Amino acid sequence: MDIKYVPTICPYCGVGCGMNLVVKDEKVVGVEPWKRHPVNEGKLCPKGNFCYEIIHREDRLTTPLIKENGEFREATWDEAYDLIASKLGAYDPNEIGFFCCARSPNENIYVNQKFARIVVGTHNIDHCARLCHGPTVAGLAASFGSGAMTNSYASFEDADLIFSIGANSLEAHPLVGRKLMRAKMNGAYFIVADPRYTPTAKQADQYIPFKTGTDVALMNAMMNVIISEGLEDKEFIEKRTKNYEELKEVVSKYTPEMAEEITQVPADVIRDIAIKYAKADKAAIVYSLGITEHSHGVDNVMQTANLAMLTGNIGRLGTGVNPLRGQNNVQGACDMGALPTDYPGYRKVADQEVMEDVTCTWGCSDLGCEPGLKIPEMIDAAAKGDLKVLYITGEDPVISDPDTHHVEEALNNLDFFVVQDIFMTDTAEFADVVLPAACWAEQEGTFTNGERRVQLIRKAVDAPGESKYDWEIFCDLAKKMGADPEMFTYESAQDIFEEVRTVTPQYAGMNRERLDRPEALHWPCPSEDHPGTAMMHIEKFAHPDGLGIFMPLEEQGPMETPDDEYPLILTTTRLLFHYHAAMTRRAATLDREVPTGYVEINTEDAAELGIANKEKVKVKSRRGEIEIAARVTDDIVKGIVNIPMHFRECSANILTNAAAIDPKSGMPEYKACAVAISKMEGS
Ligand code: SF4
Repeated sequence: MDIKYVPTICPYCGVGCGMNLVVKDEKVVGVEPWKRHPVNEGKLCPKGNFCYEIIHREDRLTTPLIKENGEFREATWDEAYDLIASKLGAYDPNEIGFFCCARSPNENIYVNQKFARIVVGTHNIDHCARLCHGPTVAGLAASFGSGAMTNSYASFEDADLIFSIGANSLEAHPLVGRKLMRAKMNGAYFIVADPRYTPTAKQADQYIPFKTGTDVALMNAMMNVIISEGLEDKEFIEKRTKNYEELKEVVSKYTPEMAEEITQVPADVIRDIAIKYAKADKAAIVYSLGITEHSHGVDNVMQTANLAMLTGNIGRLGTGVNPLRGQNNVQGACDMGALPTDYPGYRKVADQEVMEDVTCTWGCSDLGCEPGLKIPEMIDAAAKGDLKVLYITGEDPVISDPDTHHVEEALNNLDFFVVQDIFMTDTAEFADVVLPAACWAEQEGTFTNGERRVQLIRKAVDAPGESKYDWEIFCDLAKKMGADPEMFTYESAQDIFEEVRTVTPQYAGMNRERLDRPEALHWPCPSEDHPGTAMMHIEKFAHPDGLGIFMPLEEQGPMETPDDEYPLILTTTRLLFHYHAAMTRRAATLDREVPTGYVEINTEDAAELGIANKEKVKVKSRRGEIEIAARVTDDIVKGIVNIPMHFRECSANILTNAAAIDPKSGMPEYKACAVAISKMEGS
């Protein structure tokens, strides 16, 4: 019996663990961790271990589907292409939008955005970074000149102190969590600030519970202490940064006593952690969606950059500002230009010279310099009837976007809606045409993980039925719509990657031979003799003058605050066994572990409301209400409740607030909205 081991990369989180798919009789029958892989070193979390369970499911999409009289019927590819081409050609390009798939390889995403820009003529292109790390891209780009993780995961093991804020790594990024635990075993002091006493917080040397949405005040007060105590890195500030006096003036107001009022963290604790952070020789900041998913997410991100620059904790092993990215290829989707403001390589749509250069490389005509709409803007425009056609690849906004009723209203209001995916998702049910796509195990290409490591994925088995690669579908459609075939003819994913290198300066020095090894390459890698860049900003920042910019920031707080009617703050989170919903809820082993959702409520709050553990309750916000089981616990700050976001039957996003948006990034405030909880009648 022949068994094949095909090395590839996990399809779930941005950690980017290496794995071998075990193939027998043309089926993937298991997963073996990749022992020589530098990220996971022969380990996987439960999601990675059971990712193969979805590949050969009976409910994979296998043919194009067209909806007629409210029912889907099987269709040929030609029928589907003709219908889509006629619809995309019938509307003003500004009335058409695209959500790209951050789960898909770079090559698919690259062709998707190229198709939208050249063939359809719109920059209305976005992806789920808008809903997770959009503030990281905007915030770190403003502070450092580059919107990505500064160090590598391996760098954590050199830290003397790790300050984790808004990151539950042991559940959401478990193999990074493992590196943090190893750093702790090496002697690093581990501080975790989080409104929830998470599994990660339970491993901390010092846990700092604080009120959700008050990160700016907390870090301003830490900087206030550092400056008052004379612990700032004067040489680093002088040589490597600008705008320090402006920062100093703002943080001077935020005494620990004042911040205590806002954050609920005792002033002496703020003083203590500030001094510990500043005195550590090598201190690393780790953050995730607890920082970004706020209506002031960019401010929170820039605040982590301020703290690191103030203490010279940048450009050395064991230091840095380290956002933990969500989807397996969300970093790549940003790099590939699946953004309404950026072409591949973060070259700005609004810049005329960039546009001329891109049109010259692609051989197309004027693409315009007006940036497109972000995801929340596209949803709003569809709800108002201004966006008429939506083409979604591999996203499931009915589950993952805020205010589900608003999303459903928008989707129902579209004139024409295409979904390209591997399963009939909750979102695909709303579509006019559904196209079957190959999954990660069925194709070649590259994923870029959260530490900017560009890694090869390899084909293990054929895609089921008539499914195609995303890039093939967009190339077929481009030709159907009369595009120059030269622009959309590729032999393989490798062929596409060669083109990606020509328009993405950070990838210019990469080729298949160089990537075909476990350590692969970190971007920026500008030439074929460049070793790649595991650590950024060693001698200068990525701004043209090489300086980092301090950003003075005032505390804003969440947009929707509790009141008599809605007295609690809801935060939403992810679980170890689930990753959004469409894939992990179809993996039988993972679904069995946590089959449905619950609301975590503080013991005192529950007692005041007369709610017992496991009792069914009603949670209500200004957007809607759900029925869900209560989990009464001391692991959450009083006044805050938490619902994992994966479960359609008790969906947290029915409650969340699509109107509370970060003006600097378009990020909706998933981490704070006002809710009320009540016992169910008769319970
Ligand atoms: Fe996959 Fe992330 Fe788990 Fe690694 S940590 S196995 S990349 S889900």
